[in-house]
Amino acid sequence: LDAEEFRRQGHLMIDFLADYYHNIETFPVRSQVSPGYLREIMPKSAPYNPEQIETVLEDVRRKILPGITHWQSPNFFAYFPVPASTAGFLGEMLATGLNVPSFNWISSPAATELENIVMDWLGKMLQLPKSFLFSGGGGGVLQASSSEAILCTLVAARDKTLRQHGMENIGRLVVYCSDQTHSSLLKGAKIAGMNPKNFRTIKTSKSSNFQLCPTQLELAILSDVENGLIPLYLCVTIGTTSSTAVDPLETLSEVGKMYKLWVHVDAAYAGSACICPEFRHFLDGIENVNSFSLNAHKWLLTTLDCCCLWLKDPSDLIKSLSTYPDYLKNHASDTRKVVDYKDWQIMLTRRFRALKLWFVLRSYGVDKLRGFIRGRMAMAKYFEGLVAMDKRFEVVVPRHFSMVCFRVSPSAVVCCDGNGENDVNEINRKLLESVNGSGKLYMSHTVLEGVYVIRFPIVGTLTDFRHVSAAWKVLQNHADSLLA
Ligand code: PLP
Repeated sequence: LDAEEFRRQGHLMIDFLADYYHNIETFPVRSQVSPGYLREIMPKSAPYNPEQIETVLEDVRRKILPGITHWQSPNFFAYFPVPASTAGFLGEMLATGLNVPSFNWISSPAATELENIVMDWLGKMLQLPKSFLFSGGGGGVLQASSSEAILCTLVAARDKTLRQHGMENIGRLVVYCSDQTHSSLLKGAKIAGMNPKNFRTIKTSKSSNFQLCPTQLELAILSDVENGLIPLYLCVTIGTTSSTAVDPLETLSEVGKMYKLWVHVDAAYAGSACICPEFRHFLDGIENVNSFSLNAHKWLLTTLDCCCLWLKDPSDLIKSLSTYPDYLKNHASDTRKVVDYKDWQIMLTRRFRALKLWFVLRSYGVDKLRGFIRGRMAMAKYFEGLVAMDKRFEVVVPRHFSMVCFRVSPSAVVCCDGNGENDVNEINRKLLESVNGSGKLYMSHTVLEGVYVIRFPIVGTLTDFRHVSAAWKVLQNHADSLLA
């Protein structure tokens, strides 16, 4: 690594990215390539001799960019977006530049200590109870994903309960969630060796806005206990993936407490909104839960990847995940006065994620970050109003955050084969495909109680009201042709 050549190439790369952002609206939002496109245009093997960075960048322009779906486009309204920011990028760049694996304190003390500090800072911004902060006996860790946070907490819960009941009882442990809970819980339960028969999915319905019902949960728990099973883990979601439904945390956490469940709150997307005092009520009841996670890369301007996980009693997690081989033994760890984050996650080696979160928190400050959240909420409200004004469309579920779930309403569809809801679903599917195929914007869908729904999350950093109204015009134009 030659410092001067690094400087030259680094400048080239920044120029490349600045141009990319400058021109981002000129690209089709969803990539238009066909499967296998890249293999056809790439050499069959790696080059034997070095190539110039300029040549490689030219290939990025010509071969890679066409296969990119532009998540940072202001016209990207699919899945849950991952809004980039200058501070997030610079923090990530610095972390990559320093390239320190920081698995324990001594392997890079600043990496660990900064992570302790930013987790407390963000915890305070969210008004988490003191018990979740390092300063109050709890603590937080930055992981790659919510899936990882869910798996790690599930394993901690499993081991804690099995220490009490005996390892041979693993097959009796029960995991609870709703049918709207993210699929990562099921995956986590499989990896954690849970009995698939003991994965309780409580059914939700439109009439209760797809919330997990505490009474149904309690009935399921009672029935399991009666059958000799051991209730273990409850996942409560604030802002479900399909429709941003909000489970009633306060009541559910009481049920969890009563039956000694490990309660985890998954607020992957919506959690960031709770830094605004007016949205903090979504976390009421958090004082009764064991763990809480959100993805700062989903709505807090922090570049991928950055999942923030807080625990009231990290020792449960540490007991499950710690290892201490000879080759890692050191005085600081022996004192037990330092945090060794290798014991808070799956991998040993870890990235210095705290830097980018620290950059974001410092560069924007709490006030501007709240403004970012509020701006997205305001645009979603505006979009919801646009949908309501066109009688051919309907909003399908109440909006809590910055995502609107809508569809072409059944009343606007002349049923062609008398198949009612199927025809309506088909029209909506076609509408989504035709809009996405245009490259002008990109949205994704979900299915709620058999109803095909178009999701429209407004989260992008570059998205403004003009993009929202332009997107709505595109949608209306495509609907005009489809419904004609
Ligand atoms: N939980 C919720 C509510 C989500 O929306 C998502 C992803 O969108 C996840 C969990 C999984 O997140 P990750 O991709 O970070 O594992």
